[in-house]
Amino acid sequence: MHEFSLALEVIDLARREAEKNQAENILEISIEVGDLSGVEADAFESALELVVKDSVLHKAAIVISRVAGKGICNACDLEFDMHHRLATCPQCRSFPSIISGGEEFRVVSLVVE
Ligand SMILES: [Zn+2]
Repeated sequence: MHEFSLALEVIDLARREAEKNQAENILEISIEVGDLSGVEADAFESALELVVKDSVLHKAAIVISRVAGKGICNACDLEFDMHHRLATCPQCRSFPSIISGGEEFRVVSLVVE
């Protein structure tokens, strides 16, 4: 599963970060998941919960924030909330639109012990 391998990557990143800081544990990790990133936030969170045991993240508070999808219409320049990648413009119904937000998947902060 896609979310599962992302969870392992996040643990890997956290472990390298802990080593760099000579820390044994991470106390908090914040991750942003965009609604249009292709990552299912709930599935990712469950996957992460499964793999944190016995990792540097076992003590960490995991904060996952979702970023809403935003699009800008190519035809009329309207910026609108985009719930999926293939959404049409709510004003003029044209397609496609430029995705201006919600594609991110990233670790925004790590607090080491
Ligand atoms: Zn439009």
